[in-house]
Amino acid sequence: MGLAFSNYCETCNAEGPEVGDAGLVGDNVNIAPNRIEHDDGVFCSFGWIYDALQAISLVPKDIADLKAFLEQHHGHDLVTHCDHDEQEPNIDWDNLRKYKRQFSKDKDVVGCYSIRNVETDEVFESQTDAFRRFDKRILTANEIAKFLQDLADDSEVLDGFYRCSPTIDPYEDLEQIAEFIRDNSDDPLEVFIDES
Ligand SMILES: [Zn+2]
Repeated sequence: MGLAFSNYCETCNAEGPEVGDAGLVGDNVNIAPNRIEHDDGVFCSFGWIYDALQAISLVPKDIADLKAFLEQHHGHDLVTHCDHDEQEPNIDWDNLRKYKRQFSKDKDVVGCYSIRNVETDEVFESQTDAFRRFDKRILTANEIAKFLQDLADDSEVLDGFYRCSPTIDPYEDLEQIAEFIRDNSDDPLEVFIDES
């Protein structure tokens, strides 16, 4: 039995978009990029993880949707609730504003997140997922460093991930993407969504 996580705005009595299979993206739903060391480990915010994923344009649609929800409710009482928590969120369940998932052909795309070594033509392809659309581009050294240092090489930050989309799961595509980037970082790397 896995844990399931949901995000709510208590101020608006609204439900946020579910991430992956009711997963957790960071220890709090703060859009500010925080990584805070405590005596019992590291707590990082959604914003911290989002920024590291965004650095390489690896943004599944549900992550982009959650970011939009958090921006919309910025400054409100936002909570992440685990179904095993004893304390219930302060929500009027009968009148909950449920999140409606929408797919926009302009903003979203279904395909495989792909990285190509421009020198060798070797390509890594993720599993198929819905992503935020972006233009094919070459990653900069700073973007690569941000993704690796802030996320993929930081096991304590990775602990803040749970049951997200397989494309950003540390035990699935995320680790393989990081490995491909580490192995090929001497050459220019191009990222794009393969819709074929
Ligand atoms: Zn709100």
